[in-house]
Amino acid sequence: MSLPRIIDGKAVAAAVLDECREEAAVLVARGITPGLAVVLVGEDPASKVYVGSKVKTCAELGFHSRKIELPKETTQEELLRVVRDLNADPAIHGILVQSPPPKHIDEEEVIRALDPRKDVDGFHPENVAKLVLEDPTGFVPCTPAGCMKLLEVSGIPTAGAEAVVIGRSMIVGKPMALLLVSKVANATVMIAHSRSKDLPALCRRADILVAAVGRPEMVKADWVKEGAVVIDVGINRVEDATRKSGYRLAGDVAYEEVAPRCSAITPVPGGVGPMTIAMLMKNTLQAARQIGGC
Ligand code: NAD
Repeated sequence: MSLPRIIDGKAVAAAVLDECREEAAVLVARGITPGLAVVLVGEDPASKVYVGSKVKTCAELGFHSRKIELPKETTQEELLRVVRDLNADPAIHGILVQSPPPKHIDEEEVIRALDPRKDVDGFHPENVAKLVLEDPTGFVPCTPAGCMKLLEVSGIPTAGAEAVVIGRSMIVGKPMALLLVSKVANATVMIAHSRSKDLPALCRRADILVAAVGRPEMVKADWVKEGAVVIDVGINRVEDATRKSGYRLAGDVAYEEVAPRCSAITPVPGGVGPMTIAMLMKNTLQAARQIGGC
């Protein structure tokens, strides 16, 4: 068996960001500076890192950005007021409320309060409906959009392929399955989840296997058909005393044993991860174009 192709998410994300930089310059020349607001409630260290890198990427691309950091005691009503103010702010085209918020916040209600035209995460019910309807004016959630981009630029055929998506979250699994079954990709799709029976047997059917579970190295070599394409969305911290940090990042796929069976595979880190922020920037540009009427 020939060596698997390692899909380089870092390189693809860099190319997407280069395109975004060029498109932003065109919009700026027309008097529209794409603007992204990122709202963080509380002190979650990982969320702080994510928010920081989104704001930094905006600066690198020539976008306007606003970082709104709110204390963890912020009430639902206060947060909704911030969202409404951003909805009304003409300098802001995309709004993102960093997940997860503190437990007392009703995230669903916050998402519904977003102007769907500024919902660059693609979580608002109106954008979910547009994804189902294959309406290109909607926003596609960034991580599954990134997975589709990786398949596309890697020249992986999806039409008629059997795809298995493990995970049914609204952030990754369900939108991923919808994208694969769309009239653009034309795959035959199965969604597996925590109640699915004989997961290894289901996975062995897959020409394209997408793992979005959150369980380190769950997918083993004998779950994977020879020659399959494997997209590993999982980002899990695994204790590792040999590292200075005390942990390493692992995907949902047991990479070392699975990779030799695949025709192509995404590594963790450096696969799907970098694509999420790149697609967020792309969505923000789309919002700026649509709101600006160009
Ligand atoms: P989630 O917890 O919302 O959903 C996990 C899904 O996995 C659920 O639908 C559940 O039914 C399914 N599941 C759980 N245990 C299972 C089992 N034993 N067998 C089969 N299915 C099982 O998680 P999520 O938000 O969809 O994220 C999934 C993973 O992707 C996590 O590791 C997360 O960190 C990662 N993630 C990565 C990015 C990125 O940018 N690369 C973005 C979002 C999420």
